[in-house]
Amino acid sequence: MNASLDRSLGLIPNLDQFLGSDLPVTSPVDGSVLATLRIDTAAEIDAKIAKSQEAFHAWREVPGPIRGELVRRYGEKLRSVKEELARLVTLECGKILEEGRGEVQEMIDICDFAVGLSRQLYGLTIASERPNHIMQENWLPLGPVGIISAFNFPVAVWAWNSALGLVCGDSCLWKPSEKTPLTALACQALLEDVIKDFPQAPAGLSQVIIGALDAGKQLVDDPRVPLISATGSTRMGKDVGQRVAARFGRSLLELGGNNAMIITPSADLGIAIPSILFGAVGTAGQRCTSTRRVIVHRSLFDQVYNTLATAYGQIWESKIGSPLESTTLVGPLIDEAAFDLMQAAIERIRPVAAEVLGGERVDRPGVYVRPALVKLSADSRLIDNETFAPLTYVIPYDTLEEALAIHNAVPQGLSSAIMTTDVREAEYFKRHSDCGIANVNIGTSGAEIGGAFGGEKETGGGRESGSDSWKAYMRRQTSTTYFGYQRPALAQGIRFDID
Ligand code: NAD
Repeated sequence: MNASLDRSLGLIPNLDQFLGSDLPVTSPVDGSVLATLRIDTAAEIDAKIAKSQEAFHAWREVPGPIRGELVRRYGEKLRSVKEELARLVTLECGKILEEGRGEVQEMIDICDFAVGLSRQLYGLTIASERPNHIMQENWLPLGPVGIISAFNFPVAVWAWNSALGLVCGDSCLWKPSEKTPLTALACQALLEDVIKDFPQAPAGLSQVIIGALDAGKQLVDDPRVPLISATGSTRMGKDVGQRVAARFGRSLLELGGNNAMIITPSADLGIAIPSILFGAVGTAGQRCTSTRRVIVHRSLFDQVYNTLATAYGQIWESKIGSPLESTTLVGPLIDEAAFDLMQAAIERIRPVAAEVLGGERVDRPGVYVRPALVKLSADSRLIDNETFAPLTYVIPYDTLEEALAIHNAVPQGLSSAIMTTDVREAEYFKRHSDCGIANVNIGTSGAEIGGAFGGEKETGGGRESGSDSWKAYMRRQTSTTYFGYQRPALAQGIRFDID
């Protein structure tokens, strides 16, 4: 591991500046300490916010397409270091290298998307009810964007926010997860390398804040930061949403999921089974979009459950291991606390479960676990909480209406899927799933950047990445211009004559 560590930490040439004794960063790969960092003091965070505000005032004057050029160059930079950055992602958050590469690719993709967008920040021209008037809707830069990110997508979520924020004319302040600050320092160093040859980019355009809860709260409470884009647990989102609302700020929340896939009698199981497996055990069940519940028509229930049980056996046998090995499909959990939460969830459901497979600790350094599969004979409110680990429940249903009722019964609303070859079932599902994402013959995890990403209910309601998510990073202005020579008419025909 040392050689690959050297190569990846080489992405942070100024690492010495950040070393200290406050925050040990451990690798879930084997539990070793990668580095120990100093956390930012409250005064340092205050200074970073002030600098970000200054940077915003300069950056907002730079034309959109020029701002896009900075992001284009950053995308090029990422292409040149894709492998090293993917390795650092793997070392720091434990996802398999193939998925680490996918995460960096997602950063590149959103950069490309943002470059195109930098010439398409379109407003509207609106017909006025008054003669010689024109109404416009303008989109203007918003201000410093506070980005709080989770450990499981340590770089892509920042890229979704910062690539769009930067082309929209905003400055960015990033408070990464305290479990994955090194990838953040690497992304920042790479951006600074691009910025040094880009004279229009002001100092402080993008900054990283190293810290945990207190640092996050300071950013959240500061009125100089008009938008807080926060990704993480529902618990975090509840606190952040209320604090930001209390100061009339804007929040964009991307919170937990409890995602389900419905398998109808017409499903092609050759498509369904691999999709369930990737969604359930991929990323060791540590995606917000991981498949937590599989709702199977009773006619196929035993067949689907038994096929999954066999596949799980194969995974336990040979596919759990170091995420740096190309044969591994299931890497480690992030830490001991994640293992404890998984065990607690298994013990909670055990008394009502028809069968529980897996969940045992694998004997090797780090926190490795056998993905668990739970057979239920009926839906249960005991599975309403998101367990951020490879723990999947299989539940029977009789009618599609019942399947959707089970599907929508949880408090979260992020991602959903149906496996069917019946177009009527597919359309019914899309209309009745209460999630932000509703897939047909595609699993719950693995979104592309082109679509708006996010979910409803306790998932927070935010949308990031594609479609018109950029509007969250700008402020909307309605402007009416009069271009006549007489005294202009008032709206709604109101008369207000002084003489
Ligand atoms: P977490 O909530 O523990 O932490 C996320 C971030 O929030 C960290 O940077 C943390 O320091 C910060 N934070 C926590 N409480 C805070 C507070 N009160 N004020 C300000 N900042 C605070 O989440 P995690 O364990 O890192 O990540 C896993 C969770 O994230 C899961 O619930 C997962 O579903 C969710 N997630 C959601 C999405 C999405 O797009 N919907 C994407 C990735 C992860």
